[in-house]
Parts: sequence; structure tokens; C-alpha cells
Amino acid sequence: SKIPSITLNNGVAMPQLGYGVWQIEDDQAFTAVGQALDAGYRSIDTAMIYGNEEGTGKALAASGIARDELFVTTKLWNGDQGHDAALRAFDTSLAKLGLEYVDLYLIHWPLPAQDTYIETYQALEKIYKDGRAKAIGVSNFLPEHLERLLGETSVVPAVNQIELHPQFQQGASRAFHARHNIVTEAWSPLGQGKGLLTDPTVTELAAKHGKTPAQVVLRWHLQLGNVAIPKSVTPSRIAENIDVFGFELDDADLTALAGLDSGNRLGPDPATFGG
Ligand code: NAD
Repeated sequence: SKIPSITLNNGVAMPQLGYGVWQIEDDQAFTAVGQALDAGYRSIDTAMIYGNEEGTGKALAASGIARDELFVTTKLWNGDQGHDAALRAFDTSLAKLGLEYVDLYLIHWPLPAQDTYIETYQALEKIYKDGRAKAIGVSNFLPEHLERLLGETSVVPAVNQIELHPQFQQGASRAFHARHNIVTEAWSPLGQGKGLLTDPTVTELAAKHGKTPAQVVLRWHLQLGNVAIPKSVTPSRIAENIDVFGFELDDADLTALAGLDSGNRLGPDPATFGG
């Protein structure tokens, strides 16, 4: 396929660009994921809480694409933290997806006040050792949560999936991940299609390169070494968001985009989310 891969710390290859399915109803996921696979995406990012693992799984099966050419991620929801609950939740997700293994299984949020992410991650380590997840990792973990995980568990997370886009650049997390060989995966990579895509810096770079604002932002992710998982249900945008391998931002472009960091999240703060 034309989408380059990143090699995770356990040797597994992960496409650098994937398709995110948050806020797609289960009965629409079949069509949406089918369109993404037709457009050339091979990596799909879902989660138990998105409620669309069944529709996603049906689209994967109907595509006829060989399992080893697909990269499927799902995530363990907050209410399923704890060692035994996590094992049960994984079985449920796998059954809903209709798969024998996932490529990547993530803890969705750290819930630091609840203090169960270590035992939860130990359940993921068992799933990984059983070959039912080809890689395991986390989402929304702050460096302090990763620090503790690295000290108390044995499998270094392959990925930390975090909110990341030019208006929230996550310098400290990206540096921590780089030091520990953890891939940074960007959620809401387009800033949820809000102000970022009409920011003059972005629209001027789009005009300069003859590309769209979304393509400029996705190119920024790729050149930083992030994995990105943009979401759209519009076929033309699904295609547009994967057509980002034929141009390059130069150093001045990257410097201009570096200036957009606001330090403000669109989503919840992992230090407090989930109580
Ligand atoms: P996104 O940044 O991918 O933005 C999606 C929105 O941008 C679309 O709904 C649409 O309005 C707009 N858009 C998409 N393509 C466009 C284009 N080419 N031109 C103009 N507008 C366009 O936001 P997202 O859906 O929040 O994030 C992507 C994925 O990340 C999700 O689907 C999900 O898989 C994942 N995610 C994970 C977490 C987490 O906690 N781990 C949280 C949020 C999202």
C-alpha cells in the first residue's frame, strides 16, 4: 500500500495514517469504514465506548482484505479497568469486531484518582503474551503516568494516543515518548475541523502548496513522526485526508505551524477526567 508504516518498539508495523471512527453510529460504521478501506486506508481506530465495533468489524469482513493487511485498534473503556474486568472487556470487544486478534489494544484513559491502570495494564500484558493483541499501549497518559507504568510493568507501551494538533502540540509528551521508544499517535489530528482549518497560517500554506488545509495539517503530523487518525464520513474528505504523500512542508512552513501552539486542549484533561 502507499501509506508508509512506522515500526513499533516490538517490531510490529503500524500505518502512519489511519481512519478514526469516533461519533459514527454503529449502523453507519459499515458504510463509513467500507469507504475508508476503498479509499486505501488499512488502519482503523475504534473503541468500546464508540459503540461501533460491530459495524466496523462487519465492514472489515465484507472488504475481503486479508487480515494481515489490516491494522485494527480498539480501546478499553474506563468502567472496565481492573485486571479481571479488563480481560472480560477485551473478549467482548474481540467478539464484537469478529476478530481473532487486534493489532493494538489501548487503555483509553489513565483515571489516576482511581489508581487501577497498573493492574489493568497487567491484563493487557497477558492479552499481548497470548497473541490476542499484536501490540499494547495507552491513550491520554501524561508523562507521570507513563513513568509509573514503566517502573511497575514489563512491556513498554508501543503507543500513547493523545490529543495532538498544531494548536496543542504536546512538546513534553512527544519528547518523553521519543526518549522511551513509544510512538505518539495523534487524536483529533485536524483539531476536530474547528478553527485550525481556517487559521490564516494554515490556509496560506494550503494555497502555497496547492493543497487543502486538512492536507497541510496531516503533512505536519507525518513530518513530525506522529501517527494520525483523521475522521470524516464525507467520501471526498476521506479521500483527501489520505492523499498527503505527494508533497512536503519545508522548514519555514514547519516553523510557521510551530507558532500555532495555544496550549489549550479541545478535550478533557487526563489528570482529572473520569474522577
Ligand atoms: P479530527 O481532528 O479527525 O476532525 C474530524 C472532523 O474534522 C470531522 O468530523 C469534520 O468535521 C472535519 N474534517 C475531516 N476531514 C476534513 C477535511 N478534509 N476538510 C475539512 N474538514 C474536515 O477529530 P476526531 O474525530 O475527534 O479525532 C479523530 C479520531 O481520533 C477519532 O475518530 C477517534 O478515532 C480518535 N479519538 C480518540 C480519543 C481518545 O481519547 N483516545 C479522543 C478523540 C478522538
